[in-house]
Amino acid sequence: RAAIAARDLVKTYDGGGTSVTALDRVSATFATGTFTAIMGPSGSGKSTLMHCLAGLDAVTSGSVIIGDTELVGLADKQVTLLRRQRVGFVFQAFNLLPTLTAEQNIQLPLDIAGRRDPDPAWRDRVIDALGLRERLGHRPSQLSGGQQQRVACARALVTRPDVVFADEPTGNLDSRAGAEVLSLLRMAVQELGQTVVMVTHDAAAASYAERVVFLRDGRLAGELTDPTAESIL
Ligand code: ADP
Ligand code: ADP
Repeated sequence: RAAIAARDLVKTYDGGGTSVTALDRVSATFATGTFTAIMGPSGSGKSTLMHCLAGLDAVTSGSVIIGDTELVGLADKQVTLLRRQRVGFVFQAFNLLPTLTAEQNIQLPLDIAGRRDPDPAWRDRVIDALGLRERLGHRPSQLSGGQQQRVACARALVTRPDVVFADEPTGNLDSRAGAEVLSLLRMAVQELGQTVVMVTHDAAAASYAERVVFLRDGRLAGELTDPTAESIL
């Protein structure tokens, strides 16, 4: 089963009398329980693809299916609701709320999604799997960068989303903390059965994925399965 599927995605940005084609008929599927990296040079459309897949950006034409729901054509409100319930995000800049503890940051998406009766067993599993049990009472400023990104991963996973989108999740981490976060994302896929789509320009980071999709000038330019850092370069 595909957690997410894009068909013939086209995205053009218009402005100042010029038009940029950021995505040019991109089709791709991301199977449930897989870890995919999206790579490509700067300006090749990686962020645009991620934003279109996540329903953050309206597509010009084509289709995006998350789980069993077609995003294109839904009202903005419905897309927001769907995103809250079915999509998690991990950002380069962590984006944790500074005044909240780790536990409160992790709880937030459950509250926002209006889960009156969240699955406490799942929440506990995520917290333990990411090694955060001892850090729940800490605020972001009391955590290292790697620990903050682990909290951000837990926050993304806690609603048990169909897909987690990670945008350069190791961009602000040293290589050791980065490797730890990547291992955790891989573990979320292998042991929790989550689907992760990660944008990165780092071959070492991408080698944690089981598949790498390459973009060039807004088009799919190939893919690798079971990549190694050497095979990507
Ligand atoms: P990447 O993430 O691979 O660096 P982007 O998706 O950010 O690539 O950009 C793809 C293309 O779309 C680039 O040519 C970029 O300049 C253009 N682009 C991205 N966002 C906008 C925008 N909001 N307005 C106009 N052009 C944009
Ligand atoms: P809305 O602003 O439409 O109400 P939400 O605030 O519910 O949407 O956002 C849903 C998720 O999308 C959140 O995790 C949020 O951090 C993320 N998000 C919102 N805008 C962007 C953006 N421009 N780029 C990346 N992620 C975003």
